[in-house]
Amino acid sequence: MKGEKYLFVVSGPSGTGKDTVVAKLLGDHPEIKKTVSATTRAMREGEVDGVSYHFLSREHFKEALDAGGIVEYTCYCDNYYGTLRSEVERHMKACQPVILVIEVEGAGNIKKLYPGATTIFVLPPDMAELERRLRVRGTESEETIQKRLRRAETEIARSADYDEHVVNDVVQDCSDRIHDIIRNRLMQSDE
Ligand code: 5GP
Repeated sequence: MKGEKYLFVVSGPSGTGKDTVVAKLLGDHPEIKKTVSATTRAMREGEVDGVSYHFLSREHFKEALDAGGIVEYTCYCDNYYGTLRSEVERHMKACQPVILVIEVEGAGNIKKLYPGATTIFVLPPDMAELERRLRVRGTESEETIQKRLRRAETEIARSADYDEHVVNDVVQDCSDRIHDIIRNRLMQSDE
């Protein structure tokens, strides 16, 4: 589909700091946008409905899915997360680079649907640092932290399928590296 080169998928284990990196990137380069996903997870402190996510009940999520409004979705640690078709297509049509921050299964599905999309995996410096970052965040219970750490191991094992890999050691450096990837891709033709 025309416009696929404008799609950039960013994944990384929970706690790797990918949201911070992407926030830095968007702040430095306002021409780059980010899709707002739908989720059934509870809102965290500081999150805003319609900005962080579209927070939906399970019933509303299913309705959107049945109506074809969700291009990919997954169940992640007992909650549903999905990319809205409208979010992806409006940026492709406008020839505007857009980032989807989604987990590995969704990334694979986006790549199948839009082969011209670029997938980028953000790695933590090491697993001990990942666990430390998850705990410092202080937003999850011990049970959820353990679930997210187990999920991190399987996600890292699947990261070989990604087009690009970046390590989040220093936020600014990692954000700059992703920006280089985006700039290089936009200079290529739209296949
Ligand atoms: P969190 O609960 O920490 O906000 O997100 C949990 C995981 O779900 C993260 O890896 C995040 O990237 C992923 N995620 C967020 N939105 C979507 C989505 O629309 N689709 C998929 N497949 N994953 C998502």
